[in-house]
Amino acid sequence: MAIRISRALFDCLMAEAALAPMREICGLLFGTDERIEAVEPARNVAVDPARWFEVDPAALFTAIRAERAGGPRLLGHYHSHPSGVAAPSAQDAATAFDAGRLWLILGGGEALVWRAVPGGPVQGAFEPVRLVVD
Ligand SMILES: [Zn+2]
Repeated sequence: MAIRISRALFDCLMAEAALAPMREICGLLFGTDERIEAVEPARNVAVDPARWFEVDPAALFTAIRAERAGGPRLLGHYHSHPSGVAAPSAQDAATAFDAGRLWLILGGGEALVWRAVPGGPVQGAFEPVRLVVD
């Protein structure tokens, strides 16, 4: 299982995360089974954005509505771990209710992709997805 992303888009995400060293950034991922084709930054509405993220529900619902109306396919979302690694935290696992969606996590100078899978091998909630930057 692999998903591709352009170098330009990848660099955009890394830059967005680097600009926010004190809080988790987040946003939405759009594309196909093979490729992340677009990203859309969203507000992090978590109570403590330094330690947690919650994608602005309004942005999420707008994207889901647009997808149902034939718009861009919502693959999942991304967020950063400003002082952590690019792997799902226990807190991420506790909120991974979106089975099948991709979670792209930025941290420690890299970005890794995970798919939410109930009972998955990582934190009991995710499986790794290979990210190919091209
Ligand atoms: Zn996280």
